Amino acid sequence: MTAATPAIEAEAERLLAALMHVECDPHGRKWNLDTCRSIAPLTLEINRLKKEKDAVILTHSYVEPEIVYGVGDFKGDSYYLSMAARDSRAKIIVFAGVVFMAETAKILSPDALVVVPDRGSGCSLADSITGDGVRKLKALHPDASVVCYINSTADVKAECDVCVTSGNVYDIVAGLPTRRVLFVPDRLMAENLRSELKRRGVDKEIISSDGTCMVHEEFSPAQIAEARAQFPGLKVVSHPECTPEVAAASDFVGSTGAMMKYVKTTPAPYFLMLTECGLVGRLEVESPEKNFIGGCRLCPYMKLNSLEKIRDALAAPRPDQIVTLDEDLRRRAARCIGKMFELTPAAKKD
Ligand code: SF4
Repeated sequence: MTAATPAIEAEAERLLAALMHVECDPHGRKWNLDTCRSIAPLTLEINRLKKEKDAVILTHSYVEPEIVYGVGDFKGDSYYLSMAARDSRAKIIVFAGVVFMAETAKILSPDALVVVPDRGSGCSLADSITGDGVRKLKALHPDASVVCYINSTADVKAECDVCVTSGNVYDIVAGLPTRRVLFVPDRLMAENLRSELKRRGVDKEIISSDGTCMVHEEFSPAQIAEARAQFPGLKVVSHPECTPEVAAASDFVGSTGAMMKYVKTTPAPYFLMLTECGLVGRLEVESPEKNFIGGCRLCPYMKLNSLEKIRDALAAPRPDQIVTLDEDLRRRAARCIGKMFELTPAAKKD
């Protein structure tokens, strides 16, 4: 065991100030000074390497709390992190999230060395369709605008007209010039999109592929009914990757950023978060006065990230940790994301 030097002691206290609030820990850990001391040498080493190598670490809200609060320079959802990648001047970007997000960082920051802690960090949604699959759908529906959710590979983005996030999907699709829209890869988000456009009186035909998020598709209206019976006054918060039935039974449906904002600004005795557990961990740290009941789920891909793998990717990245893209494909994918930045209403850019 490493001796607790003053630097380790100070780092452990810094970590504890955030992590002491985390109850929804993926490993069931209780964060105290001892557990914080056990990771402090590693967070100190990573933070030193960041400075030496001119690196930034982007952390998705779904990765483990010691990564988000121990070494992350930016924390948030795909959209926020893609803007952070776009605006970054760092030589190295470490993306603690999943591979399609690191590809997005490389698309937007082509001169940076972009690395992923674990190459196996895929995504059930992003990996459900390839660029070739999109080309086949386009051949069947040549008159459709082609839209991809940001949870898609670079190969898919390169084939699409515009990219969207869960925060801007409704506004961007509503404003497209064609009536027919091909939407990939999320079938459930496409169903939620159809309902929302109908509610807004917008006439669009949405054709979707068949991907789903293995985390969000699992929530059910029965789970909501049971929780409401047990916790009067409960607010149910869900993501548009959930089924339309779950969305209809929720008090609020929105992107990760919008969900956080809703919880922080809504008075309620309890919240049920129908999303990945990492977001509950973040809310416990940032809104410790709120009460969350169990029910969130873990994404096995996000949980492949670890402090050790981040340290190794920073110190001496292996070839499989380095994200590379063909330049023509990268340019086409950058056009698709650039269109999203252009079409996102200012109010949705937070
Ligand atoms: S939570 Fe769902 S959408 Fe996000 S990375 Fe995991 S599988 Fe993909």
